[in-house]
Amino acid sequence: MEDFSKMNLPFGTQSPDFDVLIVGAGLSGLTSAVKILSKEQSLNIIILDENSVPGGLLSVDGSRFVNTEQQRLITFLNLFHVAPHQRLSNISRLKRCWDLDRGLTSVPAKIELTRYIDMLDLRMKKFQSARYKLRKRASTMEHHICGSLFFNKSRRFMLNVVELVCGVDASEVNYDEFMCVCSSCGGLRMIIDLYINFPGNMFEISSKKLVSAILEKLKNIGIYTNRKVTDVEHFKNYVLVTDSSGNRYTAEAVIMAIPWNNVEQINFMPAMPERFRAEPRVAVKSKRVITQFSVSYSKSFWDLLGYSGHFLCSSPFIVGHENRPATFSGYMLHAPAQDGDVRRVVLQQLAKHFGKEMLEPIDYNENSFGLSVTLHKPQIRPWNRIIWSSSSAVGTYYRNLMGGAVDSGLRAAVNALFVVRPQVVGWKDLLDMQEKDLYKSETPSRVKGLLSRLNLYNVTFYSVFVLGLIFLLNLGYQRSS
Ligand SMILES: Cc1cc2nc3c(=O)[nH]c(=O)nc-3n(C[C@H](O)[C@H](O)[C@H](O)COP(=O)(O)OP(=O)(O)OC[C@H]3O[C@@H](n4cnc5c(N)ncnc54)[C@H](O)[C@@H]3O)c2cc1C
Repeated sequence: MEDFSKMNLPFGTQSPDFDVLIVGAGLSGLTSAVKILSKEQSLNIIILDENSVPGGLLSVDGSRFVNTEQQRLITFLNLFHVAPHQRLSNISRLKRCWDLDRGLTSVPAKIELTRYIDMLDLRMKKFQSARYKLRKRASTMEHHICGSLFFNKSRRFMLNVVELVCGVDASEVNYDEFMCVCSSCGGLRMIIDLYINFPGNMFEISSKKLVSAILEKLKNIGIYTNRKVTDVEHFKNYVLVTDSSGNRYTAEAVIMAIPWNNVEQINFMPAMPERFRAEPRVAVKSKRVITQFSVSYSKSFWDLLGYSGHFLCSSPFIVGHENRPATFSGYMLHAPAQDGDVRRVVLQQLAKHFGKEMLEPIDYNENSFGLSVTLHKPQIRPWNRIIWSSSSAVGTYYRNLMGGAVDSGLRAAVNALFVVRPQVVGWKDLLDMQEKDLYKSETPSRVKGLLSRLNLYNVTFYSVFVLGLIFLLNLGYQRSS
């Protein structure tokens, strides 16, 4: 718990308008609201969001993938009767359309990539996020990738994955940071499966259905869109929040259910203590945007060519798949300046592979978000009446995924209840705050670990060494005889 005597906060003169104010109507913010109301219906809650629609990253119609290990998420989904269902059956039957699968070097590139991912996953156990111990001189991920992977295709794939996971270019992320973040996401393979691979054994849910079901449950509370929070003034007995239009709200507790890079843009009074801001590194800003899109056609043109619709292009980074019959959804990473150009680029890329009919969809929707930077230490402890949330900001369990959003939302709700109605918090709620050990499984054998380090560079190096040795021995033998 915080030591109040050291905080030096002034007493305010107003009585708060709300019990709890939630900044951000993404999955984590909405989860907090549901949890708080399930414990105490009479609490006065308000949610503010800068976007024009609630739902955050789930506001674009599309599929989200879930594996059965994300237990808290599944329990939460069952509450709204949006249980995940098995994926479409033709996905495994038809071939995928990935640039990694094309060309002469595709087979060795995929082999070295699989080995590299295995190697990182095997080492991940050492980097549990809660410890977040970073070496001072770890190499950058760009350096690590280029030093371990030989083919351009596999390098590009990994560089994109690093950017997707950490929110910044691989040259700005060091190896230890990347491993800590991946470890708190549940492992690299899990991220690649959920964001890129979408294997047939995954379960899927519709983001639109989930958001509508949650909003239906929250229909009695005020969710205000187009309200970007800009200032937060922290008093001993309440918090004063101001949005970009100058509206002011006071609340007993505030949950910041927004990515950490958005938190860093808010003016806090008094300033946020150093331990929340700088650890473990100086803040970096994401230079890229993620645009999620959904395109509908009169029929699945990819099907006619024998493709499952599963699409991957590394430059620009576009990932997509058929989410409903004849509807294709996915996302693209790009610079903010390219914002108005996403539709053209995506449709052109699809047309290149699935035919020119892809240029004329019957419906197209897109939504852009700044990429969340996840390099900071997970923020689990509240700052007096301000409670951190959001899957990318505080999750140590399925961080960056829906599981992390629900987890951090539940934890933030319990923390807020401690501030406004501590008497309703039961021991079962405390279980919601407990972190799960994602790496309970046995430690991999040393041989497996050593073998996983073999990559093409090493193999070439070792072969040259052995050949050189044979040559020298041969030379010595010839001289002596
Ligand atoms: C393309 C893509 C595919 C994904 N696929 C999967 C998947 O298959 N499986 C999975 O488990 N997860 C997946 N995820 C991750 C998952 O969608 C997110 O982790 C989760 O939705 C994040 O929820 P959140 O509430 O933490 O954050 P967000 O959804 O980002 O919500 C934050 C909200 O805060 C608002 N906000 C920000 N700043 C302010 C401010 N200053 N004032 C007011 N409001 C503000 C934003 O508008 C936003 O609505 C995917 C993500 C992406 C981008």
